[in-house]
Order: sequence, then C-alpha cells, then structure tokens
Amino acid sequence: MSEASVFTRILEGEIPSEIIAETDRAFAIRDIAPKAPIHLLVIPKTEQYRDVVSLADGDPSLLAELVALARRVATEAGADDFRLVFNTGPGAGQTVFHVHGHVLAGDLTEGSLVG
Ligand code: 5GP
Repeated sequence: MSEASVFTRILEGEIPSEIIAETDRAFAIRDIAPKAPIHLLVIPKTEQYRDVVSLADGDPSLLAELVALARRVATEAGADDFRLVFNTGPGAGQTVFHVHGHVLAGDLTEGSLVG
C-alpha cells in the first residue's frame, strides 16, 4: 500500500489546510503556493484517479462534480470568470498524482500557468 497523497492527508486532518467547500465526493482548498490572486484546488475525496484523463475514463460524473465545485468556489471567492487547469503528467508540471483542478482567477495577465 503506497503512502496517502498530500490531499488525502489534508482531508483526514493530518496536514493542516482549511477545507473551504465540499460535496459528498469532492473538496476544495487554497493552494499553498498561489500562482494567481485566487488559486484554489478542487479535488476528489478518492485518490483512485491519478490524473484528469483517468478520472474522465473512470468516473465522468465525478469530473463533472469537480467542475461544478470549481464554479461554486470561484463565485464564492468573487470571481465570475476563472481558469480551470489540470496538469497532466510530470512533463506538464504535475507533482501530486491524486487528480486535482487548479481554479485560477483574478488578474491572469501574467498567464498563470501552474507547474
Ligand atoms: P500540481 O503541480 O500537481 O498540478 O499541483 C499540486 C499543487 O498542490 C501545487 O500547486 C502545490 O502548491 C499544492 N500543494 C502541495 N502541497 C500542498 C499542501 O500541503 N497544502 C496545500 N494547500 N497545497 C499544496
């Protein structure tokens, strides 16, 4: 059994981070190293899917739930418009292999590429 991901450890309260919103199957936190004025993460409670491609293949309704949660937390943070980024694979900057979407909003003129 491999070690729990950092996001599972946050969900279980082993690593401190405020859970700013949750549904039955997903939750949202603030990124510890924000790359935009608003930088949130939307994450399935299961760490079964390593990236968005395997999530879309395995449980498309959970992916749709993540997108809806992204909409909700962006709105609650005061953003009508936002960028939703899923780094997919180490070559694209993915460092945590428990699928998560970056919700980026605010002034994105610098590009706000995460990774
Ligand atoms: P990735 O690089 O895999 O697309 O994104 C992982 C993200 O998780 C990074 O933006 C990183 O800052 C964030 N992150 C890593 N560890 C922690 C943590 O302990 N707490 C929070 N809130 N974010 C984290």
